[in-house]
Amino acid sequence: MEELRADLLVVGSGPAGQKGAIQAAKLGKSVIVIEKDKFPGGSSLNSATIPSKSLREAILDLTDFYKKSFYGKAKIKQQISINDLNFRLTRVLDEQRKNLEKQFNKNKIQLIHGVAEFEDKHHLLVHDRENRLQYRIKGDCILIATGSKPRNPLNVPFDHEKVLDSTRLLSIDHLPKTLIVLGGGIVGAEYASFFAALGTEVIVIDKREHILPLLDKEIGMHLQKSLGEIGLKMVGNKMASNIVKTIEGVVVECSDGTTFKAEMLLYALGRVADVDRLKPDNAGIILDSSGYIPVNALFQTVVANIYAAGDVIGPPALAATSMEQGRLAMRHAFGMQTHHFPSFYPIGIYTIPEISSCGYTEEQLKELGFRYEIGRAYYYEIARNQIIGNDPGMFKLLFHVDTLEILGIHIIGREATEVIHIGQVAMSFNARIDYFIDQIFNYPTYAEGYRIAALNGFNKIKHRR
Ligand SMILES: Cc1cc2nc3c(=O)[nH]c(=O)nc-3n(C[C@H](O)[C@H](O)[C@H](O)COP(=O)(O)OP(=O)(O)OC[C@H]3O[C@@H](n4cnc5c(N)ncnc54)[C@H](O)[C@@H]3O)c2cc1C
Repeated sequence: MEELRADLLVVGSGPAGQKGAIQAAKLGKSVIVIEKDKFPGGSSLNSATIPSKSLREAILDLTDFYKKSFYGKAKIKQQISINDLNFRLTRVLDEQRKNLEKQFNKNKIQLIHGVAEFEDKHHLLVHDRENRLQYRIKGDCILIATGSKPRNPLNVPFDHEKVLDSTRLLSIDHLPKTLIVLGGGIVGAEYASFFAALGTEVIVIDKREHILPLLDKEIGMHLQKSLGEIGLKMVGNKMASNIVKTIEGVVVECSDGTTFKAEMLLYALGRVADVDRLKPDNAGIILDSSGYIPVNALFQTVVANIYAAGDVIGPPALAATSMEQGRLAMRHAFGMQTHHFPSFYPIGIYTIPEISSCGYTEEQLKELGFRYEIGRAYYYEIARNQIIGNDPGMFKLLFHVDTLEILGIHIIGREATEVIHIGQVAMSFNARIDYFIDQIFNYPTYAEGYRIAALNGFNKIKHRR
């Protein structure tokens, strides 16, 4: 057993851990990152964000998804195999892993492989795969960035062939002809749409009526229609009570007596904080009632020298937000000027079609009693959309009738997750809707949708002002 010490110890090398480690290193601190998995990068790089988005792009390309509106289905590669998809995935993961290694080396961050557990508030013990104690490491400051893992109840018969979670799904050896996705949240909806685009018959089962109920309702309806058009079937208001494996595949029994069969099942009913091996109580940290590590607005736990960021502290649980939490946490820890986590940030959902939003939904504005108006631009009004392959979609801008301040932006369709940032920046400067009218946009672009939507909304209130 070796004794080590550093200014900062980071447990977990996902987005929160990486950005926290790099921030501290940039401030001249010595940093050790401990990672239990073979590859660093967290679930984000190895089993969640990057693999799922790489598969999505491979599917869009190999199925010529956007070209269909010009050339019909004839040109589509008929037999797409799991190897075709994995080819791209492997390339992307290799590149990303190399980048991460370079960043750690450049910033002199030491990466140690092993499972970390707290001995006390300043010491971590690190065990190898055979549970042999390898290191005892002292840190002035510790960042918990252990992320999350799929919530897998014991009564669900998981394997690597038929009953899958989002991690196991990445190791299937063939593409299913039929698939049940249990759970219409972000992970379930994204994968359901990918497989539907591949031609798999997909059924999404959820206890709620609609897929992704967190969305602005109008955008949600648009999504449901688009998913229906690529063959995805949503079965709402159903509670799965039992999952049974059969020779042919899987049967899902619901509490109302109905049953559904498919070759494979993706179980996507949430994730839980990954704290199994961490023993935070040895440092005086007690988990909250949902199993997350409680932190204050500066990501500090009840123990002053221990911080936590990313999925392990609970929602919003995105790679995007985790990175910033890790960075902000370490700025505070090492006495640098910092700020609170922004109240508005974009949410990107990479279903096919993709969705992105920032700010309030129409339903929230109604509930809060805002005087609002809506500006809409449909993708069929945008020249760029026709040029690159007619995708149905829309911009929905919500703004205050009196002050014209932008209150919410919701986009569904191609490039939504990119163009949202234009609106996000405008919102962060409290811009008014007429900002988009008075600016010139490149033409033809998707961004032009802001201008069209702003004009649409502004014209509705002109006579009322
Ligand atoms: C299918 C899927 C798709 C997603 N897509 C997106 C997306 O498109 N955009 C987006 O912003 N977010 C997305 N997310 C969410 C995103 O992946 C997570 O929010 C993000 O990975 C959280 O980062 P993190 O650093 O908190 O933890 P993680 O990325 O989970 O990393 C935590 C690391 O800690 C390690 N660890 C845990 N315990 C220990 C221990 N005791 N000792 C040592 N190491 C330990 C783990 O091995 C892991 O490597 C997606 C999630 C899923 C499941």
